Amino acid sequence: LIQLYQPLNFMGMVYREIKQAVTDIEQMFDILDRAPEIADKPGAKPLVVHEGAVRFEDVRFAYVPERPILKGVSFEVPAGKTVAIVGPSGAGKSTISRLLFRFYEPQSGRILIDGQPIADATQKSLRAAIGMVPQDTVLFNDTIGYNIRYGRWEATEAEVEEAAALAQIDRFIRSLPEGFATSVGERGLKLSGGEKQRVAIARTILKGPPILVLDEATSALDSFTEKDIQDALERISRGRTTLVIAHRLSTVVNADEILVLDKGVVVERGSHPDLLSRGGVYAQLWNRQREVDEARATLEGLPREE
Ligand code: ADP
Ligand code: MG
Repeated sequence: LIQLYQPLNFMGMVYREIKQAVTDIEQMFDILDRAPEIADKPGAKPLVVHEGAVRFEDVRFAYVPERPILKGVSFEVPAGKTVAIVGPSGAGKSTISRLLFRFYEPQSGRILIDGQPIADATQKSLRAAIGMVPQDTVLFNDTIGYNIRYGRWEATEAEVEEAAALAQIDRFIRSLPEGFATSVGERGLKLSGGEKQRVAIARTILKGPPILVLDEATSALDSFTEKDIQDALERISRGRTTLVIAHRLSTVVNADEILVLDKGVVVERGSHPDLLSRGGVYAQLWNRQREVDEARATLEGLPREE
């Protein structure tokens, strides 16, 4: 029995890992089509998205019953505004984005888009309304043009090029041997993390969704690339409802509201100046990050020792 059980258990593990990775790979939505245990309700209707306001109402969620992850989270991202979620690793930040995509169902509470509970909407319409720029983009084994066009198949050549320019990857693409027709991905040209992320940004610009979820890059990118990407991200989030999962506090300064999530609870909320003057968790995180940034800048400025 044990012998029989183990492969099954292994399959379960692989499945769980795939599912975890899926929130980081927008294209996998279409490959897997949907999370198997979440189905459209009978009579589910397409979301009617006018402005794309997002609302979490007292959302409680656990992956396994004995370990609650979100313990009553409420917030609103008004149409066109930006809300940032910060907090320590494991706090439940990515779980919030998984619930917004309806990969999982909250145990209680509701999630609404423009007043419509997402639980009553078709998953297809939900996904069409949200664009995601993940931390780690996986590219298709196809041309770089295909990878951008994936955002909207019917886009014209000129629109694809414009999206690439906005994402600041056009110059890089033109430098490639075959330009937009260059093969990329595992079996083609390997792009750096920053380049892949810019492809994801271009794709999202082309999709033009009313709601954006940005999972920010971490320290993998050097400060220069990071600044570039920040600019591109800021440009696409303008005028769209944006939820930023922020690893670096420097990028949340301009958010309309910042939520500090800790152990599944929003422990502080407010604008950057509000939170700094409060002198709580956020202020501590901010000061610590400043020290790290300064140390890093000093190190980057030093001649390298081999
Ligand atoms: P954050 O993004 O803030 O780092 P996550 O939302 O990814 O945190 O995860 C919150 C907690 O939920 C973590 O302790 C994590 O280990 C746990 N968790 C995440 N995914 C699963 C899963 N599929 N099954 C069980 N626990 C999970
Ligand atoms: Mg996370």
